[in-house]
Amino acid sequence: MLKSTEEKPNLRRYFAAIVALLLFVNPAFACDLLNPASITSIKDTKLLKFKLPISHKLLSNQSLNSPHIATIKNFVTSYDINLDPFLLLTNQRNLYISRFGPDSVVAFDKIIQKKIGVISDIRCLEANLLHHHLSLMDTPNDLTEFQAFILIKDNHMRIFMLSGKEDSTPDFRFIEPKLKKAQLAGYEMFGHLHNHFFYPENPTEDIGGTLIPSGTISEHGDLKFYKELMDKYSLKQAWITNGFSTAVYKASELEKLRTTN
Ligand SMILES: [Zn+2]
Repeated sequence: MLKSTEEKPNLRRYFAAIVALLLFVNPAFACDLLNPASITSIKDTKLLKFKLPISHKLLSNQSLNSPHIATIKNFVTSYDINLDPFLLLTNQRNLYISRFGPDSVVAFDKIIQKKIGVISDIRCLEANLLHHHLSLMDTPNDLTEFQAFILIKDNHMRIFMLSGKEDSTPDFRFIEPKLKKAQLAGYEMFGHLHNHFFYPENPTEDIGGTLIPSGTISEHGDLKFYKELMDKYSLKQAWITNGFSTAVYKASELEKLRTTN
């Protein structure tokens, strides 16, 4: 028979192991699939609306179990592409400098040197939105983009996401009245997310998937759009994901990228 003094440490270890196991397998600690409150169509563009409470899990690096993102990963890695976001940026930088000269890579260098932006593993929220975008495509490997406006007020989050079948973000003009209405109701535009897809067979050899906003050479594309969102909606952060990593740029950093050259 064990003495009580010997039994207690064993019991403590036993219960600690049980708690650790429960924490590990407890779905409350995983990245759950979020379901849109509604999906509507405008021509070829789908509008997905989400309403959810703000949760720290959404911006954690917990991975979502998504068969669509897994398909992209298999597709990209079948081309022997290294998914390290800084290596992708460096390779694209080297293409740019040979084609457009040294002025074209100033913004690249600031991001690669981690002076601007934060790049980390894709987070639960981005993975969810990309998952829904890919689920609406004919095949997950289509060269398509989505964009999402992430609005917050108190404990609530509202997301307007546009999923299109073009290789650029779907036009957002028709949802501007909804964004303005939410703004008047006290929601602030915390984030804007869009994806940069991989294009392994691009004849120009630029395989994409880089987490740098477009428009860093002359003002156009992403940076021009972010400026509009900052002016109209006081956009706080811009997020770009490629399905594996996400870059986060604060508004002040977007300004620096815009005025880099
Ligand atoms: Zn972009």
